[in-house]
Amino acid sequence: MSQTATHSLPMILDEVEAVRVERLSPSFVRVELGGACLADFGVAGPSYDQRIKLVFPDGDGPLPSFAGADESWFGTWMERPVEERGHMRTYTLREVRGEGAATRLVVDFVIHVEDGEAGPGSSWAAGASVGDRVVLLAPRRGVEYGGIEFEPGSASRLLLAGDETAVPAICAVLGQLPVSATGAAFLEVPTSADVQTVPHPEGVEVVWLPREGEPVGSLLHPAVLAHLGAGPAPLVEPEEVDPDLWETPAYSSSGEEVESAVAVAGQDPSPGSGHRLDGLYAWIAGESGVVTALRRALVKDLGVDRRQVAFMGYWRRGVAMRS
Ligand SMILES: Cc1cc2nc3c(=O)[nH]c(=O)nc-3n(C[C@H](O)[C@H](O)[C@H](O)COP(=O)(O)OP(=O)(O)OC[C@H]3O[C@@H](n4cnc5c(N)ncnc54)[C@H](O)[C@@H]3O)c2cc1C
Repeated sequence: MSQTATHSLPMILDEVEAVRVERLSPSFVRVELGGACLADFGVAGPSYDQRIKLVFPDGDGPLPSFAGADESWFGTWMERPVEERGHMRTYTLREVRGEGAATRLVVDFVIHVEDGEAGPGSSWAAGASVGDRVVLLAPRRGVEYGGIEFEPGSASRLLLAGDETAVPAICAVLGQLPVSATGAAFLEVPTSADVQTVPHPEGVEVVWLPREGEPVGSLLHPAVLAHLGAGPAPLVEPEEVDPDLWETPAYSSSGEEVESAVAVAGQDPSPGSGHRLDGLYAWIAGESGVVTALRRALVKDLGVDRRQVAFMGYWRRGVAMRS
């Protein structure tokens, strides 16, 4: 294993290798990543939806080296031609196994192919074998890293909703909730064969939505609205989709102030819905168009407090992730 030895950085930025590869179902491949650098891995508290980054080679190209990287590593890396620098993509830490130098990070990759084209992340996972390497960007123990958005605070009721790209995060969260947690989780997946058995608190209803060839979001969107007692609402037009949609209590990709958004949202919700949704915390992730539509329904139509939601576009139909 290469020793890129970037200990001056506040995070892990180093090569890891696949130590176990398992085809979970038609749309998911589970890869356990291991490496000496993971002795330094650590998250303070539950990892919930902790995101990490992986760098894949460009096709048959080399895996880029980050040897000697300093704080300007990202700019330096981006200046290199794509055939040399490869592709960075975002994933979720599904599970952490083992400890010390034997620590393994489990990542569940969605295998997607559209019109014969798959992105570099999906292609790598689809062909992964034990010993294959990627570069990992992940939290270093004892150092603030960020990347956990699930923050329900004192919410009395949870709503977790997402498509297959959010399945690893939702399953990781479900497995780390207190036994007393209540609420519901909606997980839309391509086929019924992708449904997983996941441990979850008894008070959290888990609903799998296999779409069996229907468009992404076509089951998730109505299921979430019905759960919240809202009538059917249209999906959004392509030009209305924010491809970088990321709205959490701490950050808004549209630049919206959280406080003023609460005031606006509170002005004209559907009659009675504000009270009905008191105490709700909603975490919603997946295809940006679907998440944009759900955001509109929850914040604008139902008047859910912006401080009680996280809406995250995990991918955008027809658009490769920027790295
Ligand atoms: C915080 C966060 C956590 C994430 N966690 C995970 C995770 O644990 N597992 C996981 O698999 N993904 C996860 N994703 C989503 C993943 O980063 C994207 O799907 C990413 O686009 C995959 O990269 P790629 O190289 O395969 O495809 P890209 O090169 O980015 O895209 C190529 C083409 O494929 C399409 N595409 C991308 N993803 C999908 C998809 N899922 N289904 C259909 N078409 C698609 C794009 O629209 C584009 O047309 C996460 C994203 C974020 C932001």
